[in-house]
Amino acid sequence: MTELLFKIIIIGDPTVGKTSFIQRYVNDSFRRDYKMTIGVDFALKVVKWTENQMIKLQLWDIAGQERFTSMTRVYYKDAHACVIMFDLTQRSTFQNAVNWKKDLDSKCSLTDGTPVPCLLLANKCDLSHREVEQSEIEKICREHDFIGWTEISVKEGIMIEEPMRFLMEEMMIKH
Ligand code: GDP
Ligand code: MG
Repeated sequence: MTELLFKIIIIGDPTVGKTSFIQRYVNDSFRRDYKMTIGVDFALKVVKWTENQMIKLQLWDIAGQERFTSMTRVYYKDAHACVIMFDLTQRSTFQNAVNWKKDLDSKCSLTDGTPVPCLLLANKCDLSHREVEQSEIEKICREHDFIGWTEISVKEGIMIEEPMRFLMEEMMIKH
């Protein structure tokens, strides 16, 4: 049995659902009450990838610093992949997703110099008052070099595993 460890950072504006996403993905739980965390949190998810391959995902959650749309290099250091999240019901968080991507690419890349594979997740698709069109998401996904995007609902548990699986496939190719 071999084991790989990957570092994945989750970034995006405050309240888009980053911490909830990590909790959902790692513990399959959802809390409605909003708890602002300060500092950096880690969560670990162990995935049996194949018969003899384990993958350990170290999920980094920024907390309290995301209002600056900028992270220190230390946080990005040696990341294998990134998830940028926004809230479909808050247009400003979508507009800022591009700034997050620029911050990421300006501060880190893979050891071969290529950009860190980055997914764009559009959260809160369970809510009806949307402020962002799918065509707009497609456009920024293409223009800013995201590896893909999908709508998700952390609350309802919609599309949590699938995008993470896709990201792992991408990391395995790059590895
Ligand atoms: P963070 O600041 O990005 O870490 O966001 P949190 O995970 O703390 O979530 C902020 C708020 O959004 C909380 O009240 C969550 O319960 C709520 N939330 C997170 N995901 C969803 C979702 O998919 N749908 C809805 N309706 N609310 C969500
Ligand atoms: Mg949080």
